[in-house]
Amino acid sequence: MHSLTQRGLRRKLPVPADWRGTASKKPTGLSCLNFSSNDYLGLSSRRELVEASERALRELGAGSGASRLVSGNLPVHVRLEERLAAFKGTEAALCFSSGYAAAMGTIPALVSRDDIVIMDKLSHACLVDAARLSGAVLRVFPHNDMQKLERLLRWSRTKRRVGSTVLVVTESVFSMDGDVAPLLEIVKLAEEHDAMMMVDEAHGMGVLGPRGRGLAAELGLTGRIAVHMGTLSKAFGSAGGYIAGSALLVDLLINSARSFIYSTAPPPAVVAAALAAVDLVDSMEGEKLIQSLHQNIALFERLCGRASRTFPTPILPVIVGGEGAAVEAARVLLDLHGLLLPAIRYPTVARGRARLRVSLRADHTPSDIGKLVEGLAALNLL
Ligand SMILES: *Cc1c(COP(=O)(O)O)cnc(C)c1O
Repeated sequence: MHSLTQRGLRRKLPVPADWRGTASKKPTGLSCLNFSSNDYLGLSSRRELVEASERALRELGAGSGASRLVSGNLPVHVRLEERLAAFKGTEAALCFSSGYAAAMGTIPALVSRDDIVIMDKLSHACLVDAARLSGAVLRVFPHNDMQKLERLLRWSRTKRRVGSTVLVVTESVFSMDGDVAPLLEIVKLAEEHDAMMMVDEAHGMGVLGPRGRGLAAELGLTGRIAVHMGTLSKAFGSAGGYIAGSALLVDLLINSARSFIYSTAPPPAVVAAALAAVDLVDSMEGEKLIQSLHQNIALFERLCGRASRTFPTPILPVIVGGEGAAVEAARVLLDLHGLLLPAIRYPTVARGRARLRVSLRADHTPSDIGKLVEGLAALNLL
């Protein structure tokens, strides 16, 4: 622990804060703006979600009582899964207690010792942990490096046994960099080399694609990707993870995803909120929210003089470099400017690539974004 402190890597829980939308009070009583939440559309405090949750709580109680395979399988779980499948354009979907649990259950259900997982270097910790747990041979390609991916796929053909699986895993929107994967190229390469595809759309859902259906849908790739993963805890403002894909895939997961089988079904109030969130995102009102989010992204980019991106996302890293410097910048922004955007450090990102991770929301106002840019400019971070 001492050496973590010395290297500027020790983590501490922030002072607890009751967020009301994008703002909270600091302990000093000053108001503070949150630029570090993944609640991109501000759904977690929306009336639609809160009311659906309250209703489920009153009617069904606080907990689901058992795992889905025992007696915890409530109609609201099935409704959410049907809704998610329809939204994603897949045959079926399955819910987990978290996105982390979805990865941990799914990858080991798909691959084991005789199989190979090929993964983008910047993939989320839960994907890495799940691949390790599976016992499959894990190979990593440098971030978005298609040549290296192709080389690894060629190599996998010489290594794989008859009937074994090669699973290619990537995020669609990368959680710490906010850039997107070249999904069409990855899908083509995977198809060429007879590999299975898995995409984690944790940060793509509710942000990209027609009515927030994600990057795969935007690129017309839904049917060419076997495993669509996502979370209900970011743009959907609730909690839980999901896998969407074929009925066969979901059947396999029900029978072998250990984080699904051996865990109590998500509580009805949480599931009901997620269901209300999917309905809201997939509505005219949802379209407006996604539009506001993208207006905010464009405003921030313009004020910072950043180039606009082909697939704009609400994640905008401000690279500081040193771990200590990033922590100090975050402290000054919070204490002097009332801006919360915590430092993201090793091991979440590479050493020497510490950053402030800006995440924008639909319910930030133009004035909020102006204050953010002023704060960053005052610290010479633009
Ligand atoms: C947040 C996140 C997860 C985990 O989802 P939770 O529902 O928070 O457990 C998985 N993958 C990525 C890329 C994430 O950013």
